[in-house]
Amino acid sequence: MTNCIFCKIINGNIPSYKVYEDEQVLAFLDISQTTKGHTLVIPKSHAKNFAECDDNDLNKVMSVAKKIANSLLKTGAKGVNILSNINEVAGQSVFHFHVHVIPRYNENDTIKISFVNNNEKYKDEMQNIATLIKNNL
Ligand code: AMP
Ligand code: ZN
Repeated sequence: MTNCIFCKIINGNIPSYKVYEDEQVLAFLDISQTTKGHTLVIPKSHAKNFAECDDNDLNKVMSVAKKIANSLLKTGAKGVNILSNINEVAGQSVFHFHVHVIPRYNENDTIKISFVNNNEKYKDEMQNIATLIKNNL
C-alpha cells in the first residue's frame, strides 16, 4: 500500500532496526521503545489490523512474536506483554496489522495495562453476553 508507513519499512523506503525477517514476516524495534526492546511484528502482505489479517499470515506473525518474546526473556526481561490494537478507539494509530511485543522488567515500567473489574455492573448479563459473541463467530 503506497501510503502505509509499515509497507514503506518493508520496502526499505523508511529505515528500521530489524530483529527478524523472512518472506512473510518482518519484526523491527518500535520507535517509541516503551520499554527497552519493544518490538513490532508485521506481515509483509498489507492487512489493516488483527481482525482483517489472513489466518496464515496471522499464525506466522504470532509464531515470530513467540520467538521474540523468548529472546527477550532470555536476555533480561522478567515478563512480556503481547498486544494488538484494532481500530482507533482501541488505540490503533498505524493501520497495517502489527503485534507489539513489550518486554517487562519490573511492575513500574512505563506501560500500565490494567483491567477494571466491572463484574458487579454486568453480572446479570453474563449469559446473554456470551451467547451474543458465540452466535456471531
Ligand atoms: P498502534 O498505536 O498500536 O497502532 O502502534 C503503532 C506503533 O508504531 C507505535 O507504538 C509507534 O511508536 C510505532 N511506529 C510508528 N512509526 C514507526 C517507525 N517509523 N518505526 C518504528 N515504529 C514506528
Ligand atoms: Zn502496509
